Amino acid sequence: MKPAIMALSGGMDSSSLLLHLLRNQYDVTAISFNYGQKHAVEIERAKSLVDYLASNGFQVLHQVADLRTATALFESDLLQNGGDVPEGHYEEENMKATVVPNRNALFSSLLYGVALSQATKHKTNATIVLGVHSGDHAIYPDCRPEFYRALEHAFALGNWESERVSFHLPYLEMDKTGILRDAEASIESLGLDFDEVFSRTLTSYAPDNDGRSHGATGSDVERILAFHSVGRKDPIEYLKPWDEVLNDALETQRIHVDNQYKLRLTDLQYHVTREAGTERAFTGEYWDEKRPGNYRCICCSTLLFTSTMKFDSGCGWPSFHSEHEEANIRRREDHTHGMRRVEVLCDVCEAHLGHVFNDGPAAYGGERYCINSASLMFEIKEEESS
Ligand SMILES: [Zn+2]
Repeated sequence: MKPAIMALSGGMDSSSLLLHLLRNQYDVTAISFNYGQKHAVEIERAKSLVDYLASNGFQVLHQVADLRTATALFESDLLQNGGDVPEGHYEEENMKATVVPNRNALFSSLLYGVALSQATKHKTNATIVLGVHSGDHAIYPDCRPEFYRALEHAFALGNWESERVSFHLPYLEMDKTGILRDAEASIESLGLDFDEVFSRTLTSYAPDNDGRSHGATGSDVERILAFHSVGRKDPIEYLKPWDEVLNDALETQRIHVDNQYKLRLTDLQYHVTREAGTERAFTGEYWDEKRPGNYRCICCSTLLFTSTMKFDSGCGWPSFHSEHEEANIRRREDHTHGMRRVEVLCDVCEAHLGHVFNDGPAAYGGERYCINSASLMFEIKEEESS
């Protein structure tokens, strides 16, 4: 016997985790907690998934634990007595309103009790498996690994035979996309159907009674982007068509990324890279830079040029005759300012870099990448000592 005890919320992470455990031949006990969450319809999805698995020959011991009398005095916008669930990106500050105080300590404590009971009854070891992932760490402190290490230590101190029980967090370093890819592998290995599985999950914090949402809360956006990044349409029903839901999520993501750039970059760096601006000639940091080193994209650190590709063109901007072989700099026709030019952009983050002209050194192909210093980050290479 190989017991694993997990919390099955009905969301995509814990559902993926359940498949992961079945694929690895665990005897799974899955507990769904009803703690007064607005999205309690997720528990129905969890039951439906367990039924679907049973109909395919995979038995899971599933228990719904009703904690509502215990959590009735809790304050959180995620709970039925709380305020409206905020909309927006899942890494934004306002998502803290969706924290449920001490939730994961409460759940883990109960899971530990079940695990220890099974371990002592069957004289075996039991594993508590949690679907905590990297995307949760910023907003939810009770999703961080150090918290689980401390819990495991405390529970071990307070229980006989605690050496039989351990925590396992297989998704700790993954994001939602990685989790979906893991689920794809599990589904294939178990001979299940992807859409049948994920139509029995629910991630929204603000669904209607049928589990449909506008796709606008942080948890929705994160889920929608994960399906998009693995090239799939989410099989659950939204209140709007998938194309609209996806476009809204991508726009939320774009605004979030843009806000991050505004926080991190100087006004000039932001204007040049994100608004296709140009710094004045002979004013940039690197037009006259001659030391050996690498030039990276200021926004995403992609390696674009090295100092061996730089030459003195006299134009007042950093000039390069070639790009790094892995830079993949993108080109686009630019008809602004009454000119016909070829704009160059970072392929990874779409930062505007500058333009490319045909007046470069013939020995290197005749091109001149005319690049704004503001788009670049220069890394000086230490001189090799002889
Ligand atoms: Zn970039």
